[in-house]
Amino acid sequence: MTLDIQRAGQIDQASLFHPFTWVEDLKREGPNVITEGKGVRVKDIHGNEYLDGMAGLWCVNLGYGCQEVVDAIAAQSERLSFFHAFNGMSTDVVIECADELLKRAPVPMSRVFFGASGSDANETQIKLIWYYNNLLGRPKKKKIIARWNAYHGSGVLTSSLTGLPGMHNLFDLPIGPILHVTAPHHYRKAAEGQSEREFSRALAAELEELIAREGADTIAAFFAEPVMGAGGLIAPPEGYFEEIVPILRRHDILLVLDEVVSGFGRLGTYWGSQTINVEPDLITAAKGVTSGYFPMSACFISPKLWEVFEAEAPRAGVFAHGYTYSAHPVGAAAALAALKAIDDKKVVENVAEVGPYLHQAMRNAFADDPIVGEIRGIGLMIGIELVKNKATKEPFPASDRVGRRVLQAAAQKGLITRALGDTLVFAPPLVINKSEIDELVQKFKAAVDAVR
Ligand code: PLP
Repeated sequence: MTLDIQRAGQIDQASLFHPFTWVEDLKREGPNVITEGKGVRVKDIHGNEYLDGMAGLWCVNLGYGCQEVVDAIAAQSERLSFFHAFNGMSTDVVIECADELLKRAPVPMSRVFFGASGSDANETQIKLIWYYNNLLGRPKKKKIIARWNAYHGSGVLTSSLTGLPGMHNLFDLPIGPILHVTAPHHYRKAAEGQSEREFSRALAAELEELIAREGADTIAAFFAEPVMGAGGLIAPPEGYFEEIVPILRRHDILLVLDEVVSGFGRLGTYWGSQTINVEPDLITAAKGVTSGYFPMSACFISPKLWEVFEAEAPRAGVFAHGYTYSAHPVGAAAALAALKAIDDKKVVENVAEVGPYLHQAMRNAFADDPIVGEIRGIGLMIGIELVKNKATKEPFPASDRVGRRVLQAAAQKGLITRALGDTLVFAPPLVINKSEIDELVQKFKAAVDAVR
């Protein structure tokens, strides 16, 4: 490395436009420069070590330095560093990868379409849905329903789909035929005394009313993360999908499960759809498909859509969509190695065991804590919402930036977390063990204590 350690922060600020960063914070605090990682830990440029409670950005599921994936990337880069899949071209490794992915799909799927990110994959899904309805001669059936608090990406349409006003304001978004419904956030959105089941029924009624108002013949699809991630770590309340999926089916509205975070084991089942017991028409996967070692995404397309695409192909002509990196051979090699490592290391089984352990350990550590409003999530996805008043759920004033202060205190203690407002979240590598979880909880508790 040629970078001058002392000047790294200055050079960063003079050269890098950081995603999802407030320039004012960066000016005041400088960047945290990470230089290496092994297992569940990373080190910064000054040699400080951190337990990475976020697996990078919910993606390094196998932990850092997984040798099998590293070797596969190196070998494939040497053998064939790039070729594409336009015009019927293909590569051996991409063929194998598509086949392996389909074998692992939670429900029978017909094809996989590759991309390079969760955002481009969800953009692809929207286009596929529109294409499908155009081929079926239903040009009006184009609106897409998403939930407030959803996160589906940073493209123009996927930011619009995302239900976070901070991603709309100042960007002239949302655009497109996109409708938002209430997030299934029982803690924040349920009426006083409403049970989870009653809340789910109320959300189903809201959906039904929206469809009646707009006309089912205008609504094409419903997007959902099995557990909402970046929008506040929100697990579905009891009966949520059970209530809403039949409504979608009745009105011939496609269900897209955004499994960018939940795919490949994070909830303790291979797919999030298996945890929530839902059969999607389309699945979006990314992140964990290569454990974050190579940018790659995959859209899974069910027979329902594929049969139409195939039948209408003579009339439709060339499928005019794709990216240079749709089917990157190095990404495919990384994915094949990651998929094998997930199986070999029994990663999903590990999450099924340590996920509940993490939730219990957090509950033990924060039982009766007056500033912990709610601990929620499933598997290795957990959110801890801090509040000023536990009884009334009154939040801290936004200007106190309590979440950010806890995040900083945690970093000082060698723990990386993420602050979604005042909800601190953890989504550690899926290979984490119980003693590392004990360390995570103990460091997090110390960070909360430092701020209270
Ligand atoms: N969908 C979900 C559920 C995500 O959490 C993310 C990113 O965090 C995306 C889509 C977008 O993925 P990417 O950042 O790779 O574009």
